[in-house]
Amino acid sequence: NSVDFIRNFSIIAHIDHGKSTLADRLLEFTGVIPESAKNAQVLDKLQVERERGITVKAQTATLFHMYKDQEYMLNLIDTPGHVDFHYEVSRSLSATQGVILLVDATQGVQAQTVANFYLAFEANLAIIPVLNKIDLKTSKTEQVIEELNTMFDIEPEEVLQISAKLGIGIDKLLEAVIQKIPPPPCDVEKPFKALLFDSWFDKYQGAVANIAVKDGSLKKGDEIVSAYTQKRHPVMELGFMHPLPTKTNALYAGQVGYIVANMRNTKEALIGDTLYKVKSPVEPFPGFRAPKPMVFAGVFPADQGEYFNLKVAIERLILNDSSIELNVDSSDVLGQGWRLGFLGILHMEVFNQRLEQEYDANIIITSPSVPYRVKIFGEKNIKMYGTDEIMVLNPSKLPNPAIISEVLEPMVQGTVITPSEYRKDITTLCQDKRGHLEEEIHIGEDRILMKFILPLNEIVLDFFDKLKAISSGYASFDYEDHGYQQSQVTKVTFNLNDHEVEELSMLVHTSKAVQEAKEMCVKLRDNVPRQLFLIAVQARIGGQVVARENIKPMKKDVTAKCYGGDITRRKKLLKNQAEKLKKMRKIGKITVPKETFINILKR
Ligand code: GDP
Ligand code: MG
Repeated sequence: NSVDFIRNFSIIAHIDHGKSTLADRLLEFTGVIPESAKNAQVLDKLQVERERGITVKAQTATLFHMYKDQEYMLNLIDTPGHVDFHYEVSRSLSATQGVILLVDATQGVQAQTVANFYLAFEANLAIIPVLNKIDLKTSKTEQVIEELNTMFDIEPEEVLQISAKLGIGIDKLLEAVIQKIPPPPCDVEKPFKALLFDSWFDKYQGAVANIAVKDGSLKKGDEIVSAYTQKRHPVMELGFMHPLPTKTNALYAGQVGYIVANMRNTKEALIGDTLYKVKSPVEPFPGFRAPKPMVFAGVFPADQGEYFNLKVAIERLILNDSSIELNVDSSDVLGQGWRLGFLGILHMEVFNQRLEQEYDANIIITSPSVPYRVKIFGEKNIKMYGTDEIMVLNPSKLPNPAIISEVLEPMVQGTVITPSEYRKDITTLCQDKRGHLEEEIHIGEDRILMKFILPLNEIVLDFFDKLKAISSGYASFDYEDHGYQQSQVTKVTFNLNDHEVEELSMLVHTSKAVQEAKEMCVKLRDNVPRQLFLIAVQARIGGQVVARENIKPMKKDVTAKCYGGDITRRKKLLKNQAEKLKKMRKIGKITVPKETFINILKR
């Protein structure tokens, strides 16, 4: 039976532990790519790779390997590489029967190692523990093997040792993949059923999907149905990733490949979806979930003249990333823009970076916020809103507190792994962030794992940076969804000389409202340019002033008369002045330049 010679597997690792390097080495070793210059990271450099989704990925590939006179088909299924993509990783893993758990021997087990291990463990996958970077003098092989034993019950003799960079131990590793990972359970006689575990956008072909065929077979011309969208799609092309798309005539049960099926964009090819053939519906794979953005931010062109270019750039990036939610937004100060929803804070940062690097976009991204669930009471009010619970993504959309019965905020479970000496400072940081310690375990000499329950709102701003700073870069962090919890949320508004500045309104936890109000007043005092008169800066909560600052008037402008004489110079100055004014916002009698808002609102 040919399925006996198929293995579907993934590499899971903490960032920088060597996943891409190992993927390259496996491809090289099995002859998919020619032997590259040392450490060249061939896959990461492919054009198709750059055009893919938001994460920089090692990419799924089919390898062929001879073992004991038998050729095996090894499907290396890629998983996205960072914390915001737990769901996507779990879907990719469900297309496999086993994983290589790769741990940097100089670093030991880190937060994402733990998160990924449990995803694989809970999915009942075969786990091949592997230490990488054993060529380095600083590797602590013994210690890390012990950590793996303490934390995951992995027997020391099971642990393989490799250097992905130098290609040491790769043959043994391939042998382990063949021996320890079972062939996919599947049935070619049953109706066609496949898991869609990845997709990307191609200019000419639309969405291209990676699928793992569970049962049956698929050939060109067949018509398939998405269990989620219920849309029909004719299969125009199919094949293997080798590592570039390589056409074949059919895909059979147990195999992994790509399909081009007239899907217009990645929203028609959602990760975790089940595909079947028209007239032969099947029970969908469990665990599908539509993308659920949790972090929202306003994105505006720094210059409104760039609006259309930015629109095109954002739309292109979104074609490739079905998890981003896009809504138009506008502000008196920042002009026309969008409110974008991301899976998490890193997802947002990567998107931002890609806009800047790949599209040369000059953007303003406002402070991120999280979705609150707001419950409303009173029959009349419920009727008016058409529901008794609304999602609030934007401070300006918060209903009058008088009709709110309860506010719930999103929570996460965060895992920190750190040298024990930073334990106290990390605990203090998490308490400052309204978190509480749930669990603490020693995982070896001088290293601990701490689990905190934290509000997502508190980690979207500067949590990562603070954690890194406190621990001199040694602490690693990973988090996952932990549902919603009741919360006390307060809306703070700001006035300049009694005129409200809507852009500045914010939703904060009640316990921090006054403190944050004060901080913002100081920021305004230091950023709003002085005028000829005094400006009162006020923060209010429910009409009450909770903080205030004064911006002193400036002295009479004595430089004004210096400009006399040269008429062209005078004209130029007037023109500059007019252009500047266009970028100003009038609040009462006060004109505030856009730069001021940018300084205050940006992250
Ligand atoms: P990823 O984030 O898990 O994909 O990690 P990469 O494959 O990008 O590797 C991170 C860094 O570790 C790169 O600078 C690699 O060259 C380096 N690296 C990976 N494997 C080894 C190894 O076996 N030995 C040494 N010395 N360096 C390695
Ligand atoms: Mg990588």
